[in-house]
Amino acid sequence: MIEVRNLVKRYGDKQAVNDISFTVEKGEILGFLGPNGAGKSTTMNMLTGYISSTSGSIRINGIDILEDPIKAKSNIGYLPEIPPLYVDMTVDGYLNFMYDLKKCKLSRRKHLDEICNLCKITHVRSRLIRNLSKGYKQRVGLAQALINNPPVLILDEPTVGLDPSQIVEIRTLIKKLGKNHTVILSSHILPEIQAVCDRIIIINKGVVSAHGTADEIARSITNQHKMTIRIEGTTHTVDDKQEIVDSLRKLDGIKYVRADMERERGIYDYDVETDGKTDIRRAINTLCREKNWNILMLQLSDLTLEDIFLKITVGDVVPEGAVSRPAPEFDINVQDGELVATEKVSLDKGGDE
Ligand code: ADP
Repeated sequence: MIEVRNLVKRYGDKQAVNDISFTVEKGEILGFLGPNGAGKSTTMNMLTGYISSTSGSIRINGIDILEDPIKAKSNIGYLPEIPPLYVDMTVDGYLNFMYDLKKCKLSRRKHLDEICNLCKITHVRSRLIRNLSKGYKQRVGLAQALINNPPVLILDEPTVGLDPSQIVEIRTLIKKLGKNHTVILSSHILPEIQAVCDRIIIINKGVVSAHGTADEIARSITNQHKMTIRIEGTTHTVDDKQEIVDSLRKLDGIKYVRADMERERGIYDYDVETDGKTDIRRAINTLCREKNWNILMLQLSDLTLEDIFLKITVGDVVPEGAVSRPAPEFDINVQDGELVATEKVSLDKGGDE
């Protein structure tokens, strides 16, 4: 349904998108995830024919966006990050205007009624757009994208600036739309992508860093890099804890060890993280045998999408098949489930404007 090949966009010296390729199948919801400045909007704008690419190709439903832009665009409903609303129009006036602009041939009344019902804006149709809340404005933006029933929907950060209940509503709506449309959804909000999307592309510094379901991406990075181990020492006191932590830290390939909760009297869980290259389990077994300790439990931790994202964007692991680039330097924090990535600016390198 959507085929992107070797897409490049340069703004002067700035390489905003650098050789991106991916496909989206019919009926799929693809999440486009990346920190601010990663190149998401630039890619969306090229996909919708709003800006041209420097090189590469985009085919929507088999139609090249540059060769036959009008036909290709007729297959796309687009909700840009800032919805293109004429705020001095009523909702009804605006939707009718968009209906005419798109040269829609479907029964006007029935089609617009259906869309308004779906987007739950029927009761505000006579209101001026400027007087609507941000959540309702977003719904009107989504409604205009649905006019003429395009098979592809491209939604750029559709929940930015909405309150939590509005966010849930818009996500539910997108999920519903995904049943009959191919959807690309861009976001820097992890739970959003996890809640809504079938497949994820993580984009960073204009390149695809990882591609697949959250599980596939996690597996491709490593499945043995974080674990929790419950170890029974010999004294059943806190003395065991310190000795175990110190001994684990000395093993090759261990990056991080932390004693967690006391699970049974004098028996603790230890969170261990390896360098991602070393399978540490046998070395831990040997250590415990030598020391006369018992391993009561060893559990490989699931990587959350947050872990994956941080690993990929910070650049210490590049999954198999992904293009390897020098690791950009970021200060990344997760605040309320949102990624806030600030590129460390060096003297010869500009930051994101
Ligand atoms: P995202 O949507 O992931 O936040 P963008 O696609 O908006 O990222 O931007 C990618 C990079 O391209 C950023 O560094 C941004 O500053 C740069 N960029 C975007 N638009 C322009 C433009 N019109 N001129 C110059 N640089 C731009």
